[in-house]
Amino acid sequence: MNEAVEAACALLRAGEVVALPTETVYGLAADALNPEAAAKVFAAKERPSFDPLIVHIARRRELSSVACVPAEISGTVEKLAAAFWPGPLTLILPKQPELPDIVTSGLPTVAVRCSAHPVFRAVGKELGGPIAAPSANRFGRISPTSAAAVIKELGGRIPLVVDGGACPEGLESTIVSIETREGKKPLFHLHRAGPVTKEMLQPFGKVVKAKEKTGDAPHAPGQLPSHYAPVTPLVLLENPDDFKPEPGKRYGLLSYRGEGPYVERHEWEVVEALSPGSGKLAEAAIRLFHVMRVLDESGVDCIVAEPVSETGLGVAIMDRLRRAAAER
Ligand code: AMP
Ligand code: MG
Repeated sequence: MNEAVEAACALLRAGEVVALPTETVYGLAADALNPEAAAKVFAAKERPSFDPLIVHIARRRELSSVACVPAEISGTVEKLAAAFWPGPLTLILPKQPELPDIVTSGLPTVAVRCSAHPVFRAVGKELGGPIAAPSANRFGRISPTSAAAVIKELGGRIPLVVDGGACPEGLESTIVSIETREGKKPLFHLHRAGPVTKEMLQPFGKVVKAKEKTGDAPHAPGQLPSHYAPVTPLVLLENPDDFKPEPGKRYGLLSYRGEGPYVERHEWEVVEALSPGSGKLAEAAIRLFHVMRVLDESGVDCIVAEPVSETGLGVAIMDRLRRAAAER
């Protein structure tokens, strides 16, 4: 693995992009302090310039190299960093002036996280500076949770994909911004639900959903109504009895456990389960994007998705399913 880390660092130092595993999904990495390198991330992903990149630091103490933490929230940031970093929590903070504007799409804030993945961390430490890395997929498409999925998304466009196996969380990081309140616990605006759940954040503050924007310059395009979407139309079916198949159409089921009323409702062309048999949300999160890809490539005309319970990790899973199902 050392060789791969060295190769990745050499490319990053040369202003190139490389795909690296993180605990959430594979990221397309570039030197965050090099605007030309950041531009290559946007080009490879066909990402609109208004969609800012997440910046990764290798160690908690490097936060000040990319963000200026205001005194009124520094205690909260320290607590959150101690509890969740390294890990899948992204904080939106005022940016350091040295960070190129292209990285934050001209916003005065930067989205920062500290990945727990050993390969990503090794590259960050070896590079010795911040890494900009959004998910390694084409804009709006399904996030890659394996090296093979990255190659399907970006093969031929980038010089290196470091294979670190399947991503252990499988869903993009939780994104929050922090608001202080006189005499009360801080308010966390949840910009994207993810592996760090509302329940996990609640001991540190009150969690509210950030306002969604649908104009051309959204706060977090991960919040656009349509995102994380397969090419095949996907329908989220809240009740199995509401399923009205059109004659001649081939349907695939994205099932939770691979059994039950949804499976029995129809002669599905293909059934893929998120957590076969056991129905565990953590397993469902890890497998969600892989299963979406398998169904997308299966040749069905429509993917029908079964909802999961909206508690804990289920909130992030349902968020991704709703966006995959949204009209494009
Ligand atoms: P990705 O890593 O591809 O899932 O994309 C990163 C997500 O973080 C996108 O939805 C960005 O819009 C969001 N993001 C990055 N920087 C900021 C910021 N300064 N404020 C709000 N959201 C951000
Ligand atoms: Mg993304």
